[in-house]
Amino acid sequence: MVKTGLLVLGFVIAGLTFALKIAQQRPDLQVTVLTKTNEEESNTRYAQGGVAAVWNFEKDSYDKHIKDTLIAGDGLFDEKIVEIVVTEGPAGTGSVN
Ligand SMILES: Cc1cc2nc3c(=O)[nH]c(=O)nc-3n(C[C@H](O)[C@H](O)[C@H](O)COP(=O)(O)OP(=O)(O)OC[C@H]3O[C@@H](n4cnc5c(N)ncnc54)[C@H](O)[C@@H]3O)c2cc1C
Repeated sequence: MVKTGLLVLGFVIAGLTFALKIAQQRPDLQVTVLTKTNEEESNTRYAQGGVAAVWNFEKDSYDKHIKDTLIAGDGLFDEKIVEIVVTEGPAGTGSVN
């Protein structure tokens, strides 16, 4: 049996980011990261590096983007989180002051 201080399930961007941050905050803990496949098989590997955000407020709006995102999420998304991501998205890219 393997014993560890903290087990992180999921190997790629979310799992490794969390594992790195917790390892920095809690150097006393042994952190183990486990994945069900390998690093070659993940959404992170297939991501194309794009950022979808509202750029043109004459043609687009936060409301439209929020509605589209909730439809794409098929009822699985937390509406409050979608609202935060959509409204803070443009500023996060550095293109809006
Ligand atoms: C084709 C494609 C294009 C994309 N393009 C973009 C883009 O342009 N811009 C953008 O921002 N996002 C994009 N995305 C979305 C982005 O890839 C994901 O939001 C992001 O990579 C998710 O990261 P993650 O670490 O949460 O999940 P993942 O990268 O999916 O990693 C999850 C890990 O958890 C493991 N796992 C799952 N279940 C278990 C379990 N029960 N036990 C152990 N391990 C488990 C998996 O094996 C995997 O290693 C795209 C996605 C796809 C598929």
